[in-house]
Amino acid sequence: MKVSRIRFWWCPQCNGVYKKVGLESRIQMYEVPGETVVMGTIECGRCHTVYQARDIWSGKHDLPREHWKEFRSATGERIEL
Ligand SMILES: [Zn+2]
Repeated sequence: MKVSRIRFWWCPQCNGVYKKVGLESRIQMYEVPGETVVMGTIECGRCHTVYQARDIWSGKHDLPREHWKEFRSATGERIEL
């Protein structure tokens, strides 16, 4: 499975932004030949919406590009790995 290099995901329900903890190790775990099974769910800590972990790691819920500049200037964080 291709893992997104964007270091943050967001919850469109409440605009919560979360760092993907352990992104480098997920890339090593999931980017292997053959089919990757990514189990489990990840819950938004603010509004408790539940997302599939697979969707988070593959980048489906990445922080949208139009918010990068604002987020970067507010936090000083690097967006991409
Ligand atoms: Zn949320």
